[in-house]
Amino acid sequence: MQHGDVIRRLQEFETICRNRGVPITVQRRTILETLLRRHDHPTAEQIYESVKDHIPQLSRTTVYRVLDAFAELGLVRRLDHTGSARFDGNVRRHHHLVCTRCTRIIDLEDQRLDRLPLPHRTIEGFEVDDFSIHFSGTCADCRERKE
Ligand SMILES: [Zn+2]
Ligand SMILES: [Zn+2]
Repeated sequence: MQHGDVIRRLQEFETICRNRGVPITVQRRTILETLLRRHDHPTAEQIYESVKDHIPQLSRTTVYRVLDAFAELGLVRRLDHTGSARFDGNVRRHHHLVCTRCTRIIDLEDQRLDRLPLPHRTIEGFEVDDFSIHFSGTCADCRERKE
């Protein structure tokens, strides 16, 4: 994510926290900023590894809890395509290419997919408000390694 976008998203985060009465802490801000600057859809463990040196008293459990809370607030997206939860700082509509060998998740922007019509009427009482498509397959690196 571009630096300007990260700053804008952090401001949004503070507004959302204030509106919901969620305390804004250095821990939370650092965890969010770290995720926003990454493009690889990290696990909570990977986020913990990259922030733990900056926040000495941070526990693994806190990182897991904070990321889940962010997902609930709609600040980040939680992806469950690979067996372990992965986090995405990009909450705009986009899609994913998921490598079934190395579990890499690559962003896919495709306006044709974005324009898929949402069903207007509710299905089984379920009201659709958004969607994201994931394609599974083999990434370029894994394909090369096989040959
Ligand atoms: Zn791969
Ligand atoms: Zn993504």
